[in-house]
Amino acid sequence: MRIKFLGGTRQVGKSGVLVRGERTSLLLDYGVMLSREEPGFPIHVQPKQVDATILTHAHLDHSGALPMLYINGGVPLITTNLTFELTELLIEDFIGLSGFYLPYEYIDMLNMRRYLKKVSFNEHIEFKDSVIEFYEGGHLPGAGSVLIRLDGKTILYTGDVNARKTALLRGAKIDFGEVDIVITESTYALQEHPNREKVEKSFVEYAREIVEGGGTLLVPAFAVGRAQEIAIVLYKANFKYNVYMDGMALDANEILLRHGEYVRDLNSLAKALNWVKKVGGWKDRKRIVNEPCVIISPAGMLVGGAAAFYNQRISKDPKNGISFVSYQVKGTPGRQLLEEKVALINGRPRKVSADIKHFHFSSHSGRSELFDMIKRLKGNPVIFTMHGEEENCVQFAKDLKEKFGLEAVAPKIGGEYEL
Ligand SMILES: [Zn+2]
Repeated sequence: MRIKFLGGTRQVGKSGVLVRGERTSLLLDYGVMLSREEPGFPIHVQPKQVDATILTHAHLDHSGALPMLYINGGVPLITTNLTFELTELLIEDFIGLSGFYLPYEYIDMLNMRRYLKKVSFNEHIEFKDSVIEFYEGGHLPGAGSVLIRLDGKTILYTGDVNARKTALLRGAKIDFGEVDIVITESTYALQEHPNREKVEKSFVEYAREIVEGGGTLLVPAFAVGRAQEIAIVLYKANFKYNVYMDGMALDANEILLRHGEYVRDLNSLAKALNWVKKVGGWKDRKRIVNEPCVIISPAGMLVGGAAAFYNQRISKDPKNGISFVSYQVKGTPGRQLLEEKVALINGRPRKVSADIKHFHFSSHSGRSELFDMIKRLKGNPVIFTMHGEEENCVQFAKDLKEKFGLEAVAPKIGGEYEL
């Protein structure tokens, strides 16, 4: 069996792994790199080199390049039905934002639907020589880790995982038993996460402070997952001021409410989403930037979306706040704002006066959780670390060698391994 890393190596973005067995080739995720205006793509694969694609979750860094395989025909696409619906939502928006740079069109994305092979958690699909099992990933609604049995070997591809439960999701499965090959994410391989409840509490306190000081708090949040989680956190804390939600998060709400089996508590999700006020359009947007309130809006890293508008309007006033509630990838406007307090306003970089804070709501396992998952594995798996900044992937592999005596590698892009 050969495993080739097409992207997402020593970086976060454009994940793609090609697993080639004797008779069956599987493509695991095929995403894009989003940090610049022009998206980056993983190494190209011909559709004829692939028998099926397996998609762990909807985030564009895992899904955004998939339509390239569906331009003339396609191959089975194995994923959960929720992931598929969310993927269509995110790619459609991506085409609207970056269509000029994309080697595919809307119609190619629609074509993927014909090839969907749905799988649920704790279920398996037999495909050619392989058996493919999906397990709860805890990272995003519908997100799964994948166990693949092929040519006598068992491969665990974690996708993005979060072992700890959140206000929105149950934690990931962490017991995989006997495995020969592990391809694991490494986003927070070198960092421990703070206690989640404390993070939630300090976020709510901060929101209260800003609003009681007469300010507007912008919470740039991913449309899927984090936006809804923040709504639940504020709702459960009996937050008594107006909370608005905007943009694609509202479309994601509709989809999530139809797939209640993927969230931890559908009832509290439904109540919180009913409680937040929906932004109807530009008239609302222009009004609420002058209102003491909380605005939850994509994009989570300020790459487009209504959040980019809100940022321009509220960042000049010191009584306002911007609270980041997710990881900010290098090179994004969000990272720049967080590190340098600089935002592009009317096309020009400007120092902002609003208060900027980061709250560590992660949807990834931290160091202890990643090690715990590896420790529980039986056998002597070979481990590949990916989906993390270079230092994280390299050091994580080193640590795994030292701690557990396992063969562990941080592959480079294009790296190919015979196993
Ligand atoms: Zn993700």
